[in-house]
Amino acid sequence: MKNFDLEEPESLAEALALLDEDDSAVRPIGGGTALMLMMKAQFFEPTRLVSLRKVGGALGGIDLSEDGSSLRVGAGTTFTQLQQSPLVQKHLPVIGRVMKTLANVRVRNVATVGGNLAHGDPHLDLPPVWMALDAAVDVVGPSGERRLAVADLFQGYYETSLADGEVITALYAPLVEDRRAAYAKVTTRASHDWPALGVAVSLVPDGDVIADIRIVLGAALDMPTRLTAAENVLRGQPAGDDLLATAGETAAEEVDIESDHRGSAGYKNHLLKIYLGRVVRELMGR
Ligand SMILES: Cc1cc2nc3c(=O)[nH]c(=O)nc-3n(C[C@H](O)[C@H](O)[C@H](O)COP(=O)(O)OP(=O)(O)OC[C@H]3O[C@@H](n4cnc5c(N)ncnc54)[C@H](O)[C@@H]3O)c2cc1C
Repeated sequence: MKNFDLEEPESLAEALALLDEDDSAVRPIGGGTALMLMMKAQFFEPTRLVSLRKVGGALGGIDLSEDGSSLRVGAGTTFTQLQQSPLVQKHLPVIGRVMKTLANVRVRNVATVGGNLAHGDPHLDLPPVWMALDAAVDVVGPSGERRLAVADLFQGYYETSLADGEVITALYAPLVEDRRAAYAKVTTRASHDWPALGVAVSLVPDGDVIADIRIVLGAALDMPTRLTAAENVLRGQPAGDDLLATAGETAAEEVDIESDHRGSAGYKNHLLKIYLGRVVRELMGR
């Protein structure tokens, strides 16, 4: 590993000043769980890492908005803090369930919400869930501040729309009345292993009818992807078995899943059909 500088600024302004919009070898570091692996494998050789660990304030905290319509999660929040937050447990219980099979306690103690999103790895468990919840992020950098949907953050395999010198400061999850959400992590080895396929669903039921739904597929394509054709099959309809089977077929047809070492394309297509139906049935209380 080549030598590099490690900076530990104590304010966001200082961190931004230490980053460099013209040099991708200067990078922010959250928990370092992904970055360190990339450095050890020599995929990435930084000249300077800017640790966000001591920034605190601007990147910390989990708060409910004044009108109760959204939850703000600071980008420096660790997975353990997210898992243990009473606000997250109350308003976004799906997150606690996802955490039970995400990595291990050592990783969860340091990995951050911001680093997880900025990494752009299509196999991560949380990004599809944030997308299904219609979450957005605040990003700050040399060109100022912007808010974008988590869905617009992902541009391809390990590619995001973040520019060099930009930092994710917070995530905002809208809180929708009566919404339910679940994530199916399908692994071929241990339950906490990387997924062969992930299906995140949020829906609003109205009796037996699915009033609204968002479906996001993870770990099977080059980035987490919303399955809008399958959503359109289910939206406004009672969640009967025939309809769920049609939605599963539609989902498998609207994406072009490729084989990888966790499963063939055919196997993953089959998993998608099965798990989409299972998650929707679970959320509709069937
Ligand atoms: C053993 C192991 C098992 C794992 N298992 C799973 C699993 O089962 N499921 C799963 O989903 N994940 C798993 N992970 C991955 C883990 O979730 C990610 O490594 C983690 O989310 C990355 O967060 P971090 O804060 O450590 O990011 P870092 O490694 O610090 O950074 C990752 C990237 O994000 C950038 N970055 C960091 N913070 C910011 C910010 N605020 N703004 C802009 N850019 C930023 C960095 O420059 C870097 O490019 C596992 C990891 C390990 C090591």
